[in-house]
Amino acid sequence: MKQARVTTVLFDLDHTLLDSDASEALAFEQALRAAGVDEPHRHLPAHDRINTALWHAVERQEITPGQVRTTRFEQLIAEAGLDADPTQLSDGFALGLGQHGELYPGVLEMLEAVAEHASLGLVTNGLSDIQRARIERLGIARYFQAVVISAEVGCSKPFTAIFDIAFERLRNPSKASSLMVGDSLSSDIQGGTNYGINTCWYNWRNTTPGELDRFDFEIADLDLLLPIVATT
Ligand SMILES: [Mg+2]
Repeated sequence: MKQARVTTVLFDLDHTLLDSDASEALAFEQALRAAGVDEPHRHLPAHDRINTALWHAVERQEITPGQVRTTRFEQLIAEAGLDADPTQLSDGFALGLGQHGELYPGVLEMLEAVAEHASLGLVTNGLSDIQRARIERLGIARYFQAVVISAEVGCSKPFTAIFDIAFERLRNPSKASSLMVGDSLSSDIQGGTNYGINTCWYNWRNTTPGELDRFDFEIADLDLLLPIVATT
């Protein structure tokens, strides 16, 4: 912990505030069914694997977020031998991602409570139309003084450029008083570390960090964030 008091909290969206697994499963089945693919759920594990690998490639700056959109379906169609159009699948999936998925239980109350102690920002690696549709539908924009979506700004976590944009929109708060909260060690926590701010790993999966992973706080429940922000 770099300083005693947290006055700015940056949140990740997917798998931190939003139940992205449920969102993806519903959107995936809807998109494949609309394209005439039988038993779409059988292809979900392969899609998850391909999608995760592509977003890791974004974190390594090998591809852009926009390239993930259709490439994930081109790869799935090739691998599973599906008779479908990748653009139709990706458009249907993107629409469904915006339409489906809820906040984890207690998130609104948590945001409400933390916002009484700190300014909040949302920093997400994602596609503009999908994340904007979700934020609008979930009614969470009012909690955030800054919403930064990687596909809109041309840079992603864990690189410092996306944090520069967030900090500019938040009117340059003190780094020592800022905290990045997220479930991903490779994007959220590494990103916060790269930028020189405090980090809180939301480890709800109860996974073991790598030997080189560093973070200031680790919580298994988002309810444990308020005590960190309110008492520091
Ligand atoms: Mg996440």
